[in-house]
Amino acid sequence: MLDMTPATSVERTALKINPAKTCQPVGAMYAALGVHGCLPHSHGSQGCCAYHRSQLTRHFKEPIMASTSSFTEGSSVFGGMANLQQAISTIFEMYDPEIIAVHTTCLSETIGDDIPTIIGKCQIEGKVPEGKVIVHCNTPSYVGSHVTGFSNMVKGFVKYLAASTGRRSDAVNVIPGWVEPSDMAEIKRYLAAFKLPAIMLPDTSSVLDAPTTGEHSFYPKGGTTVAQIRAMGDARHTLAMGKWASADAAELLTKQCEVPHEVLDLPIGLAATDRFVSALATLSGTAVPEAIEDERGRLVDVISDMHQYLGGKTVAIWGDPDQVIALTEFCRDMDMKPVHVLTGGHGKAFEERIKAILGDSVPDANVKEHGDLFQMHQWIKNRPVDLMIGTTYGKFISRAEDIPLVRFGWPILDRVGHSYFTSVGYTGSLRLATQIISAIQERQDRDAPDHAFELVL
Ligand code: SF4
Repeated sequence: MLDMTPATSVERTALKINPAKTCQPVGAMYAALGVHGCLPHSHGSQGCCAYHRSQLTRHFKEPIMASTSSFTEGSSVFGGMANLQQAISTIFEMYDPEIIAVHTTCLSETIGDDIPTIIGKCQIEGKVPEGKVIVHCNTPSYVGSHVTGFSNMVKGFVKYLAASTGRRSDAVNVIPGWVEPSDMAEIKRYLAAFKLPAIMLPDTSSVLDAPTTGEHSFYPKGGTTVAQIRAMGDARHTLAMGKWASADAAELLTKQCEVPHEVLDLPIGLAATDRFVSALATLSGTAVPEAIEDERGRLVDVISDMHQYLGGKTVAIWGDPDQVIALTEFCRDMDMKPVHVLTGGHGKAFEERIKAILGDSVPDANVKEHGDLFQMHQWIKNRPVDLMIGTTYGKFISRAEDIPLVRFGWPILDRVGHSYFTSVGYTGSLRLATQIISAIQERQDRDAPDHAFELVL
């Protein structure tokens, strides 16, 4: 297929080839796994649920738990109410979760199943045990992406559970956006460094990177508890990291519970981490801890020392909008040239933001909000780059065009480490910078003739 990719682009309006996204329920499932004792439930056919689970399993290399309404031909015609009612009874009886987080699929959305009514009926009929809860969100996959589904599920938790008691607490809410479990743990380390009491929703650390202990536990020890989500309504502030994954839930908290919020970029790279740290300093009313200052200094040191390898290098970046925005800014700040940048359908605001970041540094960059990797391949054929940064799906272009690929984002299906080692904050950005530098140096070694093959780089 890749050998046949033509260099000449034809405007396509109704066809995506190798899209830079997947469907909403995957994101809803990932967000739900970040709540303690939660069983994600897919209201649709088994095939959807199996695909979403397997995609998450392949990325995290962990078994992913989720149940399904298992639609048959009958439910496809008459609706899935009976299936969901039966599922709720069976789930509480067999798997005993604290909370069930229901999301929909294309099929149940097309039928128009009224999930709140079905949940209400289950409550009236005593199918929901005392102290247990059910929340839901709509995740029609013919709009948005897995990031939209993540955002919708977080919003669902807030809508059903967060409540104001009228007494403000010292806590700060943090909605970390679509990042790895290791990144969520790193964000919590920053909050602890500033001594800020915080509630993070969702929190997949110690869930999708849980250690093997020899003991089987159906629900891992990590995750935001239901009590914490309820208490988010009393927090004094919300930090939403990433406009596309987190802003909607933060806005709902403001509307529903009058908790003020601010939206930050994901703290990937020097400038975005600076803004995150500055927000924490303001909220805590303290100076930046020396240990964090030192970590910043190390990142600056490596970027400066390695400028000869980074300066002017052209790069192609794709993936989730919040991640791509932070990556583009980081590459620009390392004096690289992001010449091709795309995401998989997240609105013109994405293109405007990328163009604002690149400004005069790459005035002729290709930027697309509703792109696919076929388009990215065509751009690269017409303007080759030194490096590609993105998901596993780029490995075919990398091979076809012989360009190094730094794997970043979701999903990464053919490597390990991303869920265990952070890419956020100064230390995470340092790790990312070393991955980029190593990819460039390995390429330099590989291409060097004997007389220029150096021991020291
Ligand atoms: S796009 Fe729709 S039908 Fe396909 S897997 Fe996702 S939810 Fe199921």
